Amino acid sequence: MCGIVGYIGQREAYPIILKGLKRLEYRGYDSAGVALIGNNKLNVYKKKGKVAELEEYAVGKDVHANIGIGHTRWATHGEPSDRNAHPHISNNGAFALIHNGIIENYVLIKQELVKKGYTFKSDTDSEVLLNFIEDIKKNNNCTLEEALRIALKRVVGAYCILLIDVNDPTTIIAARKGSPLVIGIGKNEHFLASDASPIIEYTKEVVYVNDYEIAIVKSDELILKNLGNEKQTPYITKLDMDLAEIEKGGYEHFMLKEINEQPDSIYDCLRGRLLLHDGKIVMSGIEQNIEILKNAPRIIIVACGTSWHAGLIAEYVFEELCRTPVEVEYASEFRYRNPVIHKGDVIIAISQSGETADTLVALESAKEKGAFIFGVVNAVGSSIARLSHAGAYTHAGPEIGVASTKAFTGQLTVLIMMALKIGYAKATITHERYIQLMKDLESVPEKVKEILKDTTNIQHIANKYKDASDFLFLGRGYNFPIALEGALKLKEISYIHAEGYPAAEMKHGPIALVEEKLPVLFVATKDSYYQKIVSNVQEIKARKGKVIAVATADDNVIPNMANDVMFVPDADEIIAPLLSVIPLQLLSYYVGIAKGYDVDKPRNLAKSVTVE
Ligand code: GLU
Repeated sequence: MCGIVGYIGQREAYPIILKGLKRLEYRGYDSAGVALIGNNKLNVYKKKGKVAELEEYAVGKDVHANIGIGHTRWATHGEPSDRNAHPHISNNGAFALIHNGIIENYVLIKQELVKKGYTFKSDTDSEVLLNFIEDIKKNNNCTLEEALRIALKRVVGAYCILLIDVNDPTTIIAARKGSPLVIGIGKNEHFLASDASPIIEYTKEVVYVNDYEIAIVKSDELILKNLGNEKQTPYITKLDMDLAEIEKGGYEHFMLKEINEQPDSIYDCLRGRLLLHDGKIVMSGIEQNIEILKNAPRIIIVACGTSWHAGLIAEYVFEELCRTPVEVEYASEFRYRNPVIHKGDVIIAISQSGETADTLVALESAKEKGAFIFGVVNAVGSSIARLSHAGAYTHAGPEIGVASTKAFTGQLTVLIMMALKIGYAKATITHERYIQLMKDLESVPEKVKEILKDTTNIQHIANKYKDASDFLFLGRGYNFPIALEGALKLKEISYIHAEGYPAAEMKHGPIALVEEKLPVLFVATKDSYYQKIVSNVQEIKARKGKVIAVATADDNVIPNMANDVMFVPDADEIIAPLLSVIPLQLLSYYVGIAKGYDVDKPRNLAKSVTVE
């Protein structure tokens, strides 16, 4: 995730780019930068932090130009800093590039370039791509466009890039694969951006660039080509959305947008790490500390809220795959109760924002006692990421809806990969099981897509039960924490009182609540607990409770017993929570909507809980 803006035309480029970057700041805000060509000079200004800090930094500097590109970064390679900020400048000083995405094979390319004498100012994959283009141009004595085409055929990964050349102030060259790019068509001017929000106030005519296309953009001309150098006809679309709608990607709310982003965010989390062909999981934070992680006498997971639920699932997964004892702690309890921590204990801290105050303080004291801290965090460069000895980012992109959705599935994806990698290194899982779980994990984005394809049934269920005053969520095994998460989501978004329980524990108390009006939601996918949960469903039916079930697609037992069913594709029980949580996110969203609440900003809650 990051925001990209470009302008070429008759107006001053800088104010247009700056305004555009502010609109795209939701996509990333680690650093911001611009490259402008004015009076045949390439001026690049970049700064760590928000766009406002770049703006302040550029005061009094030469920003006169009719062509320019700008970037707001969401770091993947290299910490957020001035030198890692985009745009990057090529070794010959002539080209500037901004990039959204990840170049997966950048290490090999960088090694080749270093041998040839290239130097690098940043740790980014993006600067490698730029110098790779420069090198190809030099060796082949070809145009910049041709060099870019050759480079893109050799890189693996995702990108949207904008490229300018100080010797040709009439052209911006752009390309995309995997990361978005929209080009706005004005009168004698063009606007380029990651989404239409920076463009809409200038023109409503846009071209959405497709994967594997290169755009050669001049003030009065837009040429689209494929990587085979064949011209493509630009398909012009008329925007009929307003600004707020565009920022939400056409969705009514950020929460719905983020739920729908999960096939991509889970894919981003797996990308470059889960290498099925090589039978390898690449996570440098684990590789560098494998002995500590393998030999840990105990793992303690510390988290709050939804992250705590991800931790509970991880407890089951780590114990199953790594045979290491695991405890899961609420950070707020852990920090005050003088817990026993031994040197060598591994603490996994899970947090979306990486700023959760309770988790942060808990970690500080555990670190003092000699524990090894591993952070599973979404926000790059956040306090928890910096405090940890090692970690793995969830790469879910900025999450704006207060109720966590895509960050949760990102956390689970990282935690499962971690357990697989450590378990394989410890030989506590067989090669066959390791490969099978990798395969299952790889298929998750497609399966989530399938669940999201048609949500009319879930909307119908939401409308049917929206007036219930209480809800019970039940699950067993890996799906027990999903029952907790389903109940939490419903409380957060629709203000309905809901409780999550292990399905078998219900008979020790909550079953007293069951009567005709109580909806009881079972997370009942086909796993090793399946027969047991079928009996639990019967127990509720016998007491006239209304049963809603999340069931596996080919199940024909539970659907016959339940009043309403939401289906998910089949998956290994370790992977299943990544799928069974999706209908519950949607259910709470649609109940909240049916009740007329502001689902993106539920009352009393905040996105990043930086207070105790
Ligand atoms: N991989 C690049 C970096 O870390 C681009 C990240 C982005 O999309 O903002 O700088």
